[in-house]
Amino acid sequence: MHVITTAAEFARFRTGAACPVGLVPTMGCLHEGHLSLVERARRDNATAVASIFVNPAQFGPNEDFSRYPRTFDRDCRMLKQAKVDAVFAPAPQEMYPQGYDTWVEAGGITQRLEGAARPGHFRGVATVVLKLFNIVWPDNAYFGQKDAQQAMVIRKMVRDLNLNINIITLPIVRDESGLALSSRNSYLSREEKAAAGRIPACLKLAEKMLAGGQTGAAAIREELARFLEEEPLLRVEYISIAAPDSLEEVETIDRPALLSLAVWAGSTRLIDNTILAPVRKDSPGQ
Ligand code: AMP
Repeated sequence: MHVITTAAEFARFRTGAACPVGLVPTMGCLHEGHLSLVERARRDNATAVASIFVNPAQFGPNEDFSRYPRTFDRDCRMLKQAKVDAVFAPAPQEMYPQGYDTWVEAGGITQRLEGAARPGHFRGVATVVLKLFNIVWPDNAYFGQKDAQQAMVIRKMVRDLNLNINIITLPIVRDESGLALSSRNSYLSREEKAAAGRIPACLKLAEKMLAGGQTGAAAIREELARFLEEEPLLRVEYISIAAPDSLEEVETIDRPALLSLAVWAGSTRLIDNTILAPVRKDSPGQ
């Protein structure tokens, strides 16, 4: 496995690489969620590439950039075991040298949900992903549904800027308690982790309410907030039930909607989501 730290060195690797090339962009501290993307990239492509870059441009000034977990040697061992051909792991200076000042804005959808809660976040994400695409030249790139809005932003950028790259989104990988795997789970104390079990439980609760005939988005949001905040270690930042294409909030769930949320467990911010699909009432005889 090649471990490459500069764009120039990657260009040399890329010249001799067999196509198709698949890219899995990550910020490291890898877990089974990342590996599900890497394994798929390995299966689909002649050359599988993962990037590891904790991107300063997507963190707000009061966010966890400096304490974000960095486990590079362990990550490389995992990627080698997954038979990745090359890891691209640049230093911040390589991606944002002195005077760097070009940014990608993916418009309306970046202003909602995570974008509203974390101003500038998606500008940083879209910019670094475009740079990674231009360095790696992948045919296929793999993203997790865990960051549903991020995957939408990348798809929009690819469409709007005519990038010739297939974007593949893969399902959320969860631990045995149902908690979505995340590098940030490593911040959680035992008590916070137990409390965070309410997050996947509340997604199930929403599905149950909908199956029981409750289609009002406001009623579901209120019930979920109540359920989450019954647990003193949790604080809801937002709960959204939105159209999966525009991310506009819906009043009634009469077609599939994206339920997404951001919840603090102590000082750790966690996100999760699921698609809520209403039961069809058009069976014969009705
Ligand atoms: P990150 O390292 O957090 O930037 O994540 C890198 C990629 O892995 C993103 O496309 C994430 O959506 C994806 N990812 C993170 N956690 C999970 C998970 N639990 N299941 C599936 N994909 C994930």
